[in-house]
Amino acid sequence: MHEMSIAEGILDIALDTMKQNDATVIHSIQLNLGLMSGVEPDALHFCFDAITKDTPAEGATLNINTIPIKGQCLDCDHEFIVQEYVFVCQSCGGHTVQTVGGRELQVTSIDID
Ligand SMILES: [Zn+2]
Repeated sequence: MHEMSIAEGILDIALDTMKQNDATVIHSIQLNLGLMSGVEPDALHFCFDAITKDTPAEGATLNINTIPIKGQCLDCDHEFIVQEYVFVCQSCGGHTVQTVGGRELQVTSIDID
């Protein structure tokens, strides 16, 4: 499962951070997740709970901050939030829209002790 390797990556980051700070427990992890990252938040939660068992991150909360899809019109440079995958410029109606946001997959902060 795609989400399993992502969950492992998140856990690695959290454990590294914990060691670097001489901490022993991971309480929570904040994650930015773009709507176009292809990651299913429910599946990610499930995988994260499974792999953190018997680690210092067991029971840690994974807080997922969903990032909307952002498009930029190549005709008029207008930037807008793409709703329901409709890639049409909301300013000029142009169809030449490039995705400039929404693929994020990034740990933003980790709460440790
Ligand atoms: Zn436009």
